[in-house]
Amino acid sequence: MSQGKSIFSVILSFFLLVGHVFDVQPDQQTFCPTRPGVPTLVIDAGHGGEDGGAISLTGALESHINLAVALRLDGILGLYGVPTLPLREEDISLHNKEAQTLRQKKNSDLHNRADRVNAQENAILLSIHQNSYPNGRYSGAQAFFAPTDGSRELAQTMQESLRLTLDANNSRLEKQIPDTIFLMNHISCPGVLVECGFLTNPQEDRLLQSSTYQTKVAAALAGGYLQWIT
Ligand SMILES: [Zn+2]
Repeated sequence: MSQGKSIFSVILSFFLLVGHVFDVQPDQQTFCPTRPGVPTLVIDAGHGGEDGGAISLTGALESHINLAVALRLDGILGLYGVPTLPLREEDISLHNKEAQTLRQKKNSDLHNRADRVNAQENAILLSIHQNSYPNGRYSGAQAFFAPTDGSRELAQTMQESLRLTLDANNSRLEKQIPDTIFLMNHISCPGVLVECGFLTNPQEDRLLQSSTYQTKVAAALAGGYLQWIT
């Protein structure tokens, strides 16, 4: 899809999905980025570069899908003048150059992501990932919250937005992130990690690779965030 057509479809989908579902009124809720107290959404597209994350049933890399959703989310929020800080905008790892092994690179990458989140004043973190499971039975987006103030409420709003926008039958509930997930346990601001779907479920594998569905996921995330901060 061409860049122009892709941007057009992002805009169109956003107004169709989010504007309709949440009755968001752009005229009344446009943000002024310089207004004091307006938070910056740090958008973390999980993995990247040598670290592809999970691999889908048909061989797609989680890192590529995470980035596609993150870029769309950034584009949608840009329309509303919402301040954002994307941690990566291309297929790269954010490790220091001293890191040699894959393990060292991953470790350095995660520390750098946490440092960037914590260096951002008045930040809110949204980390975008895709789920996987040994069998294809499980599906559905799920929001996980960090153990910081405000995170649970943000995850509740996100979960409801994901349910309303993507799948009304998704009965998953927001959950606290396990303490083994480094980034989400080393931030001082509110933070939510969204697993947008299961790459091991045949239907979601197909959906998550489609541009239209990636826009729909981004619209659900944008809608949840806009609703939470207004
Ligand atoms: Zn992941």
